[in-house]
Amino acid sequence: MRGVLFALAALAALSSPALAQEPPKNVVLVTIDGLRWEELFRGADPDLVRDAETRARYVDVPDRAQALAPFLLGFAQTGALIGNRDAGSCALVSNDFWFSYPGYAEMLGGRPNPRVRYNAAIQNDDVTVLERLIRRPEFADQVRVFAEWNAVPAIVNTERSGIPVSLPPDYEAPHDPQVMTAAREVLADLPRVTWINLGGTDTNAHAGRYPDYLASASAADAFLSELWTSIETNPRTAGRTTLIVTTDHGRGASARNRWRGHGSGRWRGIVVPGLRHVGSDAVWIAARGPGIGGGSYGMENCATVSQVAATMLRSIDLDEERQSDMAPALDVFATAP
Ligand SMILES: [Zn+2]
Repeated sequence: MRGVLFALAALAALSSPALAQEPPKNVVLVTIDGLRWEELFRGADPDLVRDAETRARYVDVPDRAQALAPFLLGFAQTGALIGNRDAGSCALVSNDFWFSYPGYAEMLGGRPNPRVRYNAAIQNDDVTVLERLIRRPEFADQVRVFAEWNAVPAIVNTERSGIPVSLPPDYEAPHDPQVMTAAREVLADLPRVTWINLGGTDTNAHAGRYPDYLASASAADAFLSELWTSIETNPRTAGRTTLIVTTDHGRGASARNRWRGHGSGRWRGIVVPGLRHVGSDAVWIAARGPGIGGGSYGMENCATVSQVAATMLRSIDLDEERQSDMAPALDVFATAP
């Protein structure tokens, strides 16, 4: 009997040699917490920069946006880049809260979860796309998360899902450099599904440190470039890996320092106007990888971060894991992935 099975397996392998030899597809999601679309597409806001060093680096330059995040901006040519409202492109979070946990729950669940109305590290009752994947035998050891925020194990419900989450070993020191160091260690043997959660941008914004917020955005952009070079120079992942980059919320406008905060002001079912940061539901979404190009979303048909989950699935040819209540994949696949 065993001999027959071996013979059948050998025959199956012979009849589809391409399938047997092709390495599988991979997806990497990188989130840059609370990085405003305003900085990504316009660069540093001159009204918020006071010190000479920051002015020289980010303001008194030929192209402010290019000075801040040149790699990410390049997605407009090499993939898809959605959310530049100055050009009529729109991306939104569709949850009611406009802060982190609801944003990540929506992004990974494929729909807003109205029960998530807090940032506390309470186990997510929703099943994320990461958990749907790790339940599949071929992904059992192929889903990894590198997170700067200690609520992330709860967001992916590590207790239930078993998804390994690496956190900064020294939580008192800046988190992003530690997250990048940990992620670099797996670059040579990239898991099939990886989420890298960066957040110096949000921490520095809340603290009102605009130069540090800009520096965190620049560092994230440099890391993305390094990550992509590593992916594209490794024969196992080159041409077979999709990189999706987005954020969990926007921030308020520059006037009266509202840029520091974010949130809809919704609290216990009512909106508290003083807590509301208008426009912090506005985000951006970037993707590049096999078949990705275009992505036309205007102000009347905004893309949402809900669509990230199904986009991740499509990029690794696993549409079948998309549940009926999940938002559809972003319309960014110019050709089949
Ligand atoms: Zn956040």
